[in-house]
Formats: sequence, structure tokens, C-alpha cells
Amino acid sequence: MSNPYPTLLSPLDLGFTTLRNRVVMGSMHTGLEDRAGDIDRLAAYFAERARGGVGLIITGGYAPNRTGWLLPFASQMVSSADARRHRRITDAVHAEGGKILLQILHAGRYAYHPFSVSASAIKAPINPFRPRALRNVEGTIADFVRAAELARAAGYDGVEVMGSEGYLINQFLAPRTNKRTDAWGSSPEKRRRFPVEIVRRTRAAVGSDFIVCYRMSMADYVEDGQSWDEIVALATEIEAIGATMINSGFGWHESRVPTIVTSVPNSAFVDISSAVAEHVDIPVVASNRINMPQAAEQILADTHVSLVSMARPLLADPEWVKKAQAGTADEINTCISCNQACLDHAFAHKKVSCLLNPRAGRETELVLSPTRRGRRVAVVGAGPAGLAAALTAAQRGHHVTLFEAGDVIGGQFDLARRIPGKEEFTETIRYYTRMLDKHGVDVWLNTRAGVDELTGYDEVVLATGVRPRMPDIPGIDHPKVLTYAEAILGKPVGNTVAVVGAGGIGFDVSEFLVTDESPTLNLKEWKAEWGVADPQEVRGAVTTPIPSPAARTVYLLQRSKGPQGRRLGKTTGWVHRASLKAKGVTQLFGVNYERIDDDGLHISFGPKRERRQVLEVDNVVICAGQESVRDLEDALRRNGIEPHVIGGAAVAAELDAKRAIKQGTELAATL
Ligand code: NAP
Ligand code: SF4
Repeated sequence: MSNPYPTLLSPLDLGFTTLRNRVVMGSMHTGLEDRAGDIDRLAAYFAERARGGVGLIITGGYAPNRTGWLLPFASQMVSSADARRHRRITDAVHAEGGKILLQILHAGRYAYHPFSVSASAIKAPINPFRPRALRNVEGTIADFVRAAELARAAGYDGVEVMGSEGYLINQFLAPRTNKRTDAWGSSPEKRRRFPVEIVRRTRAAVGSDFIVCYRMSMADYVEDGQSWDEIVALATEIEAIGATMINSGFGWHESRVPTIVTSVPNSAFVDISSAVAEHVDIPVVASNRINMPQAAEQILADTHVSLVSMARPLLADPEWVKKAQAGTADEINTCISCNQACLDHAFAHKKVSCLLNPRAGRETELVLSPTRRGRRVAVVGAGPAGLAAALTAAQRGHHVTLFEAGDVIGGQFDLARRIPGKEEFTETIRYYTRMLDKHGVDVWLNTRAGVDELTGYDEVVLATGVRPRMPDIPGIDHPKVLTYAEAILGKPVGNTVAVVGAGGIGFDVSEFLVTDESPTLNLKEWKAEWGVADPQEVRGAVTTPIPSPAARTVYLLQRSKGPQGRRLGKTTGWVHRASLKAKGVTQLFGVNYERIDDDGLHISFGPKRERRQVLEVDNVVICAGQESVRDLEDALRRNGIEPHVIGGAAVAAELDAKRAIKQGTELAATL
């Protein structure tokens, strides 16, 4: 078969070593780095990705010393004992033909502990701990070098020096955080001395046949960040002192520019990496919002970058490269950039996994071994829980029939994909459509299965999902009332709308309502919306946002006290909140719903309903949570069939696709 992605899948000769292709698995802290007891789980996680064909893996960040810890007692590479333990990782990756770098990360003022340091004693807006100005700069450089030497002793193929995302090195580079007047601040040359000395001395210590990758912030997306001249000067100096390659980083953790969520246009930052690559001869790695082989191939063909980095796409599908090689990209379980089980977990200090692939990070626990005895399995409902159960059971060798009452698969995902900025959820439906077919699942659409249809199976799985909850508000039957599903699926909605319920779906529906009919923003519009400037023109690459006008007037309401959206994802919630604010959505909390009539939605505030207001709206859209649909369960039991009930059908409260897919997969692993 001809190679479908000739550049992406071609080797890259680094002189002393060769990468088998141009795919880099970027660094992602999994939470398995922090405890010595998790090292075998981490080794299995990386080995699975190496087996899947990735060219180069970069570990999560390891601190070079105690002040650099992300959290108290977080991962570090400081001793021979650490290095010995890491042999388990490097051996596992090498056994699969892979290569792996250890990332050395000093958290600087992002460290969540009282010993934090930074270039200057300036507190980060996202961290309660105030850092000290680093006194022992030379000692810290020596710690970076020692970590690199230990990485070499541990069998790593190289190190990545983490110089982006607003961590310590980035703090030295930017006037925003570096107010020093000594040899490490006050001029661009002195500000970059810190990373330059780290890379220079690391190269001298590890020798010439060891990869030294420098992750560079190519656009800080904060005020008083680096200028373009400073970025280019750093890149050329880093090359001159012996770095093997430069990886790309965009934005600081405190930036108000989203850089990784679904609504960021694909390949949004590639031009910036390419502009840096024009100034150096060493390979530059592109990153952020790249998730499919065709796009990756295009980037390598059209720009000056030599590699593409993906972290989350390889969590979602460890066989991403293998599938690209086989010309079966339609079998890739595409990362949808939701962050729900990866970065949201990382920032909540929980172990990282993937919403679409609950095995990620749990390779040694959630083992999907082939079954020795294929059984007849019926799954009712083709939402995320049912799809995961049906596919996993079929992959293990069971004979699976999937019944779906609607005319499409996807359940709540089929609604979510219609929300502006969530179009990529369509990829998940494409993946399941292809894989159900590949694994011979018998799919019955437009079929409401009953006891008759479900008789004779060895196992019956009820994944019948949820229906919208209709709150007990007088006038709830008024023609101006719509469910969220009706609004999203295209029932006409007027110009002024009240949205009842401000959970994840209330936010999504508000976003849907304020956006006009062509929701997908092109890169130019997206930049204007978020105040994203060209780093080649503006220091720090931020400017004043110019949001496009809202398509409707929207009121978003909840009964509980504000502010709204507190339970949205840690890394995505702020994007949704900022987006609705920019569109002028009126957020009302502590609301009592009085009634709905021709005048609109009547509400009041306060325990004695003392303050009253009429929202003169054309429509009221109900987003008040869901109730389980499990009508079949009792009838099955009466007929001697004991079903497995999963997903929203089991518990509707706080249901999300993460829980649904996890439950479906875990159940199918035991059948
Ligand atoms: P939800 O997050 O539980 O929110 C339900 C909303 O309805 C709440 O704001 C609640 O607020 C209100 N409510 C509940 N009972 C009510 C009643 N009887 N009368 C009036 N209002 C009532 O549920 P959801 O928005 O349907 O989302 C479902 C799941 O999908 C959640 O787990 C959510 O996290 C997930 N999801 C997340 C996202 C995202 O992160 N962007 C997007 C979509 C869905 P009050 O009780 O204060 O009125
Ligand atoms: Fe991608 Fe979401 Fe999985 Fe994270 S949880 S890897 S963002 S699909």
C-alpha cells in the first residue's frame, strides 16, 4: 500500500539518532509520576503508546529540585534512586521500539506550595502562594543539569527543558515577571541567560549523542510577555549552544486566551512555529489543536516545522500512528479537546485518563482481553454508554446487537456536536459508526426494543439514557416553552430567550443561542473574539478583544446562589463563562420561577419573593437537568431477564460522557 502520509511517517535523522516518524507525544502530567509505587503503571501507559508507533515520547514534568515541585512531594528527578526506578519506563518504551525524553520542569511561581520561587517575588494570579525571588540561580541551573545527567543514567534518549507555559524559565524570560536588576534581568540578553546557561551546561554534561529539546514559549499571551525579537534571539542562541530541537508552547496558565479547548480552531498556532523555524536549522515541533493525520501531513508539507506534537490525541487513541500507517485514519478515536478526564483531572490533582478512552493511565487495571466464549449481548441505547459497551464487548469477541430508538447513534453527543465550538464531537460519532461496522455489531436504528426483542440474549445492557427534566413551573405547557433538545435540533427560537438552568447544558444552549447560523469561527474571527495578537507585532501577543455581536438577547437563570458555572470543567469553564459574558448574556441567580405566560417568564428573588420581574421573552428553553429513562427495566425483570443498567439510565444526576463511557467500557470488560 502507498504511504498515505509520506512526510508525517518518514524518519527524521537527528545525526546521532533517528526518529522513526514525525509524531511526538507531547508532555502531559498524568499524576502517575508523583508516587514511586505507580512507576509500573506509568511504564505500561508509555509502552502502549510506543507499541502504537509514536516516534518520540516526552514524559510529564519532573522537577529538578524541591522548590520546583508542582505540588508538595510531586515528581522530581534528583537522585540515583530516582534514575534507577525510571529504568522500568525507558526499558518498556525501548522494548517497543520507541524513544523517550524526560521533561525537566521547574514550576516557579506556579508551584502550589510555600517554598515557591520565581524570577521576582510577584504572585501569579492563579496561585495563592507568593514566590520568593530566586537567589541561588547558579544552583538551580546545576539542578537542571544534574536532572539531565540522571535522565541519561536512567536510559532516556534525551530531555526536554520546559521553557514555556509560564513556568520558571518563562518567568525569567518575560518582563512581566522578571524585574531583576542583577545578571539575570533588566535586558533581553540577561533575561534569557537563565535558559541559555541551562541548555549550554546540559549539553556539555550529557555529551553530543543525547537529545536536548527546548520547549519554547512562542507567544506568551500575557501582557508584558516576550517580544518577537526576544523569541527569535532565544531560538537562535538555543540552537547555537547545542539544542537538538525546539518544541512549541503557547500561552501561560494564567492567560485569558484559550489555547487547547475544542473551540480553538485546528492548527491555530502552526504559523507561529513555522515563523520561528525559519530562523533556525534544527527541527521545530508544531503543537496544539492538531489531532488527525491529514492535518498533520499538511502542516509538515506546507510549513517550516519538522515534527508535530500531540499529547491528548495519543491518550484518546494509543494506536493513532499505527492506524495512520495502515491508511485507516477513520478508525482513529479522535481527541475532542474536551479536557474532562485529562487536564481537568490534572488541575484537580487527580489521576489523568481520557473521556473517550478510560484505559488511558489504567492500562494495567482495565484489561480488555479476548473472551474465550462469545456470548450474545444486546445493548439498548446508542448514546455514549451504550456505544462504549457495545463496541468493547464486540472487540472482546462477543456477538453484539445494538438497538436505538432514534435514527442516529450518539445520544447526547449528537446534540453536543451542534453547539458552536463543539463540532469536533462529530468525530466520535464517526469513530463509533466505523468501529461498530468493523467489529460486526448488528445495529438496529429506529427500533424501540421491548421484552420480545430482548429475549434469548445471554446479557442485556440497558443504556437508555436520559430525558430532559421538566420543572414544575406554572405554565410549563405554554407554547413558548422548549426543551434544550428541541432548541438545539432546530425548532424556531425567537430573538429574546430565557434559559432555565445554568449547568453545562444551560451554558451550551446559551452559546448556541447567541451565535448566528454559521457558528464555526475562522482563525481571524476567533483571534478578534479573544484579543489574540500576532506575536511578531505585539509584545506578549494580546490585544483588546472585539467580540462579534450576539445573535439573540439571552437570560441565563438558576435558583441557587451565584456565580454561575462553578461546576464546569476547571480548564474549560472559564472559557465558557468569558464567552457568554462577551456576548452580553444576562446571568441571574437566586431566582424563583413564578409562571410562564404570554407576557414571558415571571420570576422573583428572595425567600419572601419580595422582588419581582417579568422577562419579556419569546421563548423559555428548559435546561433543568435530566431524569433516567429505564421504563424497560421492570418489564424485563418480570420476564426473568436481569439487565445491566448503565449510564444516564442508572443515575441521571451529574451524568456526563466521561462516566457513561467509563461505565460502558468497564461493564463490557467483565462480560
Ligand atoms: P446540571 O449541570 O445538573 O444542571 C442542571 C441545572 O438545572 C442547574 O443549573 C440547576 O440549577 C437547574 N435545575 C435543576 N433542577 C431544577 C428544577 N427542578 N427546576 C429548575 N431548575 C432546575 O445538568 P445539565 O446542565 O443538564 O448537564 C448534564 C451533565 O452534562 C452535567 O454533569 C454537566 O456537567 C455535563 N455537561 C457539561 C458541559 C460542560 O462542561 N461544558 C456541557 C454540557 C453538559 P438550580 O438548581 O440552581 O436552579
Ligand atoms: Fe482528548 Fe477529552 Fe480525552 Fe482529554 S479527555 S484526551 S481532551 S478526548
